[in-house]
Amino acid sequence: MPGHMLNASCLCGYETGLSPGASMMTNSSTVIAYTADLSDLITIEEDLASKAKLKTIADPALDADPMEGMPIMGGEFEKGWGPYLCPECKRKTLRIFFCGNWD
Ligand SMILES: [Zn+2]
Repeated sequence: MPGHMLNASCLCGYETGLSPGASMMTNSSTVIAYTADLSDLITIEEDLASKAKLKTIADPALDADPMEGMPIMGGEFEKGWGPYLCPECKRKTLRIFFCGNWD
């Protein structure tokens, strides 16, 4: 089971790498989630995220055109997905970009 390498980036300068997916090695799934205090965006095991009741973001790359493997939503801000709430500036100006696949 593969996963996606994503990069979250905001106009304020906040930037972080994310890697949601399912790992054969650990037999677990990872999701994109905000930390409990919404101060950062992280990749965390799905079980832990639901146990901690973290606010998660569905992997936007799952909705990408499979032929292209790239964002089909958006259009502005260099075609990133979103916007999402930025953990840094607390504005809805965070976008997520496709970087690649991992397995
Ligand atoms: Zn921001």
